[in-house]
Amino acid sequence: MSEVAQKPDDYQNVFKSFKTHKSTVCNALDYLNSSETANFCFVKIEDCNAEYSCGFTECWCPTKRNLEEEDHEKRKLVYYGEVFEIELLKSFLEGKETLDSLGYGRIKALEKLSDFLCDSNLQETSKILAKPLGKDLKEAKWASLVATHIFSKLAVTSDMTISDMGYQIRYDQCPCGCLAPLRVGDTSIGNENVWHGSVDILMGHVAGITRAEESVGENTEEDDSSFETNPGNLEFGRDQLIAKCVVFSCVQNIQGYKLGLAPTIVISKDRVKVYMYDPKSDMLYESTELPLFSPYVKKLNTITIVALWLAVNYAIFGTGVQPAHQEFGYTADFKDRINNMEKNEIYKTELQIGGCKQVRRLKPNHRGGFGTSFIKN
Ligand SMILES: [Zn+2]
Repeated sequence: MSEVAQKPDDYQNVFKSFKTHKSTVCNALDYLNSSETANFCFVKIEDCNAEYSCGFTECWCPTKRNLEEEDHEKRKLVYYGEVFEIELLKSFLEGKETLDSLGYGRIKALEKLSDFLCDSNLQETSKILAKPLGKDLKEAKWASLVATHIFSKLAVTSDMTISDMGYQIRYDQCPCGCLAPLRVGDTSIGNENVWHGSVDILMGHVAGITRAEESVGENTEEDDSSFETNPGNLEFGRDQLIAKCVVFSCVQNIQGYKLGLAPTIVISKDRVKVYMYDPKSDMLYESTELPLFSPYVKKLNTITIVALWLAVNYAIFGTGVQPAHQEFGYTADFKDRINNMEKNEIYKTELQIGGCKQVRRLKPNHRGGFGTSFIKN
């Protein structure tokens, strides 16, 4: 693995090593910017319990995707690439942009991707991540593998914590045997008076949710990522995913994050999905499910890897909500669902990172359920 580029000479090395992957990355960027199977739809929250003190396992928020609207005018989808600086990256890869004009963060990110895609690394990582397919796997183990071999390998930031909640076993080293150190700690977000609890992985301006599950049934190349025909295994626990995404983005924005949209990335043993919310424009994006592996072979899907690389580095490559998307106006209506003004204010100013883990309840919550910190949500 190469050192981080710091000097102009090193920049040139990044450029040279990246040339090897130019066509792979260009193809992936084109795909993400034009394919009907790599989209974002917009999501509306129809009701929710966000004004109650609820741990994430107790959150509910029935939603509607804009593509489920009867009115065809409202069913607009946007390509995955539309909220990323795809054009800038492409013009760099085509030699129209100089390394200097990219800036340090982007160069460092390119270096990360270049390392990831190098043949021996890609093969090795594919092997490590495909090994659990078809086998029972502890949630904590999958979270640790994803954190070590996807997130930390693709992200520019090294500021990553894995949740210390909900797992009986915790790993302070990667369980694949590579012995990469892992930081386990408090990844809670929110506020105890409203929605709160832990995400599996906190990494800078990105939250990660891992699921040690895989899709059931046959997947064909054609229906692999469709919203309508095959919602896939990441449909389960959707309310909680959306609650985590909204809370995470609100807390990022409270803490001075400038881009508005903050990604929450969900990774199962064979699928990836990205949710993003922007509290200011109140737009909630949900991506199609992307396959982690290429069809029929246990090799990581490079398009999905590039999609993940863009998402984990959203602070570097993200554009925020596009004016056209805002004009389209399919808002989440999250704040409108909170009638209590005090609670509404909490989502604007009083959410925090850390110190708000979900605790076991002795009394049922207002929906009649018992939240518990011992059940992995
Ligand atoms: Zn490992």
